[in-house]
Amino acid sequence: MSTFRNSPNVLFETTVTATRRLSPGFVRITLGDDRLRDMAPHQRDQRIKIMLPVGGDYPAGLRAGLPEQGWRREWRSTPDRERPLLRSYTAHRARPAAGELDLDFYLHQPHGPASGWAAGARPGDRLMLSGPHVRAGQPGYGVQWEPGPATRVLIAADETAYPAVRGILPSLGPGVRATVLLEAGTAADAATLDDVTAGHSVEVRLRDGVRGGTALAAMVGDWLAEHGAAAAGAGSRFYAWAATESSRIAHLRRLFTEAHIAPERVHTQGYWHDRPTREEITD
Ligand SMILES: Cc1cc2nc3c(=O)[nH]c(=O)nc-3n(C[C@H](O)[C@H](O)[C@H](O)COP(=O)(O)OP(=O)(O)OC[C@H]3O[C@@H](n4cnc5c(N)ncnc54)[C@H](O)[C@@H]3O)c2cc1C
Repeated sequence: MSTFRNSPNVLFETTVTATRRLSPGFVRITLGDDRLRDMAPHQRDQRIKIMLPVGGDYPAGLRAGLPEQGWRREWRSTPDRERPLLRSYTAHRARPAAGELDLDFYLHQPHGPASGWAAGARPGDRLMLSGPHVRAGQPGYGVQWEPGPATRVLIAADETAYPAVRGILPSLGPGVRATVLLEAGTAADAATLDDVTAGHSVEVRLRDGVRGGTALAAMVGDWLAEHGAAAAGAGSRFYAWAATESSRIAHLRRLFTEAHIAPERVHTQGYWHDRPTREEITD
């Protein structure tokens, strides 16, 4: 097991400064604190961890400034009934100069603890989070998007990965052609990405009450049926990134394998579990 000795992440203590409902399924929470000026500027799909208090407050030992190895040790030794819940999020709009960052929360129905926290968040609420410290010298820690020399990319995401899509698309060079496949509960949720998807090829498919990740997998299968051979033939000039419900990931990987696309040209990632869960997804 990793000891997180080399992690550049430290614990930040933040306060909600604003909340904004973006669409039926999304709320944007703005967090502020002077010490966020020390957070490395966010890149692409880079993840951070948020820590949700259990029973109203954080254990005294979890202090701002603790490095990841230290806060993990403290967190593990906290009794179950007080141990904060960890969840992964994408700080796609960090503004270190202003000591601020935005997190976009997809509000799962029924709410899990993080969605419930976000739905009820008010200015003044506290949130501890772990993110990269600017002085640690590893600003790309936790970035999974690694297209290398690809000039043709496929991005497939359900709502939990929209903030990653929001981080990835503006990072593409002018010679890169992207296809973006989005699963959505409502068209209005998918439309929250209109500003970053403009100019790219975009397809949205509504879930229509079917299990999360199913519509996305069907879209990826349809895309590969039409373009899979060309993508496989492109070798390292093709790259695919897909994130959705964790039980759909094996199926997604199989689709790329069956299309003869080299595994190293594909990143797939479980972003959430379609069931109650105490622990986070850690990858
Ligand atoms: C690298 C990474 C980055 C991510 N970035 C983002 C991001 O920026 N924004 C974002 O919104 N998400 C993001 N996610 C996903 C996010 O971490 C998950 O969606 C998270 O688990 C949500 O936590 P939760 O406590 O709301 O729900 P969980 O407790 O994790 O539960 C998930 C869902 O399970 C079901 N469920 C839970 N409890 C019950 C119950 N009692 N009965 C029936 N069903 C239930 C519900 O559908 C529930 O909402 C990211 C994930 C990863 C891995």
